[in-house]
Amino acid sequence: MPHPATVLVVIPLENARQRVLDGVTPLAPREVACQESAGLVVARDVVATENVPPFANTAVDGYAVHAADVAAAPCTLRVIGTLAAGDGTEWTVGKGEALRIMTGAVMPAGADAVVMVEDTEPHDSGSVQVKKGVPAGFAVRPVADDVRAGDVVFSAGTVLSAAGAGVLSSINARRVMAYPRARVALLSTGDELVTDGSPLRKGQIRESNLTMLEILISRAGCDVSNLGVVADDEARLEHVLIDAARNNDAIVTSGGVSMGDFDVVKAVLSRIADMQWMQMSIKPAKPFAFGLLKIDERQVPVFGLPGNPVSSMISFELLARPALRKMMGHTQHLVRPTVRAIADAPLRRKPDGKVHFMRVFAQFGTDGRVHVRDTGPQGSHQLAATAAANALAMLPDGSGCDAGDTVEVMLLD
Ligand code: AMP
Ligand code: MG
Repeated sequence: MPHPATVLVVIPLENARQRVLDGVTPLAPREVACQESAGLVVARDVVATENVPPFANTAVDGYAVHAADVAAAPCTLRVIGTLAAGDGTEWTVGKGEALRIMTGAVMPAGADAVVMVEDTEPHDSGSVQVKKGVPAGFAVRPVADDVRAGDVVFSAGTVLSAAGAGVLSSINARRVMAYPRARVALLSTGDELVTDGSPLRKGQIRESNLTMLEILISRAGCDVSNLGVVADDEARLEHVLIDAARNNDAIVTSGGVSMGDFDVVKAVLSRIADMQWMQMSIKPAKPFAFGLLKIDERQVPVFGLPGNPVSSMISFELLARPALRKMMGHTQHLVRPTVRAIADAPLRRKPDGKVHFMRVFAQFGTDGRVHVRDTGPQGSHQLAATAAANALAMLPDGSGCDAGDTVEVMLLD
């Protein structure tokens, strides 16, 4: 039987990404506490059942007055009392009167404006001199001018920010129907990989992908279970994968998806999951595997990333992250944004029929445009230059670009 990868044609990135996106579906929405909702996508319209603010109140520390009384300021008003925020005492301010009032306190009946304390001079006699007039409504926050009961505050599909979680609190929506974080199991294969800090024997290298991918997956908004390095042993790997599928919404593997003789990931996944072994016309990150592992009536997506650290990172960004976002209910910005940038120095590559994703550092120039420069050696094993990058310059087939040329750049975190 031919090796699965040998029978597959090389496809463009967009084609591979579409296959992956088509293969995943959003997770079932569930109720989430508002404190845990930031970053999540709302699954059902959230309708406010309360007004915010619940009553008209003062925006400043000062004196509640009749605007008409202070129209001819300076003038002196009789102070009838003091009202703090949270104090529910009913007051009525009559003609010629003022109520000392603190930010957030209820607007008393009668008053229609607030004079800032900075524009007043209190007298011992229990009166206050108002030095500056204010129009009606000045420094008054009307009831419901933030949120009105009955308003849809978040429609389905909205991504909640920290402020969004705060809004939920403000309307007493303690729980919200949202798409949950995907639970993602992460594992690496490779008998050469050392994770425990022990001295390297000949042929061994330090493991780096798990550390990096755990962070990337969690920054994508998922909950990660890092299962560590699994030995290149088919029985062991099969057991770990099936267990991971049972307990997670998705699996990310690193290594063993290209053409090597000991690519046990390929051997095992080919047997237990419905896999697509892809080769893309990009560099780095040519091989990528995607499939579904059926377990307990669920189809668990498996993302097989290549082992070379830079390839691993880039294929996570280009294919796995968009799919994980789709699973978490996102419909916008599945793929990171791209901008047109100026190359400050030549970005060189060789023609090979592929799109190259060159690691670059992007920053705004004084001209208000984004400028990029490459961050060093671009081999797929050379993670150090990737560490210095915050963007990927997308260089179409050819020999690259010259200083001053415009280049499309994908912005990373
Ligand atoms: P593979 O995809 O398994 O053929 O691995 C390709 C290259 O990436 C090899 O040089 C591996 O040693 C290296 N590699 C694989 N997995 C890791 C990892 N988790 N950390 C660092 N390097 C890795
Ligand atoms: Mg390997």
